[in-house]
Amino acid sequence: MFEHIVKTSSSDEMINITSLVRQDVQKSGITSGIAVVFVPHTTAGVTINENADPDVVYDLLDIFRRAFPERGSYRHMEGNSHAHAKASVTGSSCTVIIENGQLKLGTWQGIYFCEFDGPRTRKVYVKLIEG
Ligand code: ZN
Repeated sequence: MFEHIVKTSSSDEMINITSLVRQDVQKSGITSGIAVVFVPHTTAGVTINENADPDVVYDLLDIFRRAFPERGSYRHMEGNSHAHAKASVTGSSCTVIIENGQLKLGTWQGIYFCEFDGPRTRKVYVKLIEG
C-alpha cells in the first residue's frame, strides 16, 4: 500500500492527485489490475471528474457550498456538518482499472482529493491489486 500526505490550504478545495496514483502504479510494476484510492477522513473525500477546464472544479465547489451551507440547524457540536455531508456525497474511495501499466482513465478524467474542512494535513492511501 502507498500512503501520501496531502496538505490543503483552504477550507474547501479539490486537488488533482492523478500523478501520485500514476507514480504508484509505475513503482509497483503492475501492468493489469485495479487501483483503489482511499481517503481515511470524514470531512474530505475523493472523486473523479474533469481535468481539462479548471472552471469545472470551481463550479463543483460552488455547487457543494450552495447545497450544503456552512450554517444551518445542525446538531453536530463540531460545527462542520456541511463538510461531513460533502464528504458523504463524494465518497471516501474510488477505483480505477490498470491496463498495460496505465490507469484506464478517460481523456478528460482526473482523480481529485476533496478537502471540505481545511486547511489540514490529510492522508491518501493507494492500494494496487494485480489481476
Ligand atoms: Zn465533525
